[in-house]
Amino acid sequence: MTARPPSFTKFRDAQAELARSGAVLFRDADGVESLVVRYPYSIDYIHSYAEDSPFFLALADGRLRGSKCRKLKCGFVYATPRSHCMVCGTPTEWTDLPTRGRVHSWTTCHFGSEAFLKETPYNLALVEFDGVGSLLLVRLKDCAESDLYVGMPVEARFDPAPKYSITDVWFVPAP
Ligand SMILES: [Zn+2]
Repeated sequence: MTARPPSFTKFRDAQAELARSGAVLFRDADGVESLVVRYPYSIDYIHSYAEDSPFFLALADGRLRGSKCRKLKCGFVYATPRSHCMVCGTPTEWTDLPTRGRVHSWTTCHFGSEAFLKETPYNLALVEFDGVGSLLLVRLKDCAESDLYVGMPVEARFDPAPKYSITDVWFVPAP
């Protein structure tokens, strides 16, 4: 008989076994069983933020920056950087965003990319701000999924040891 790795239905439960032996079976919701193996690799990923650089520099400074359309009659404010206005095509300028907002919607992630995998499950929210026309997609911490609701007041927290990454910011329930 062929040796079979242990079988799991939740990836989180399989992680310790993957770290130990390097192989598990993973059964999905449809009953399909997959062999999952681990092999370490390492790369240095060199990436330029280019025009988005002020956004990440601001996070390290404990600020949220967005873009504001320069056309006075438009003035649309974006919660994520954009070089040009999606409404009228005019170039934008940097503007400070509020650090308090409200939950517009959310989801709970049971899987994530490498930077977020250790945090699973985590809540990912679209946050809306007064005077801002678009939403910010950001992690929401210190809050159980069952306590979340649309309109919930939240405020930003910033990593005191910034890594110039989107992980430098997250939101928590506001008092
Ligand atoms: Zn505009």
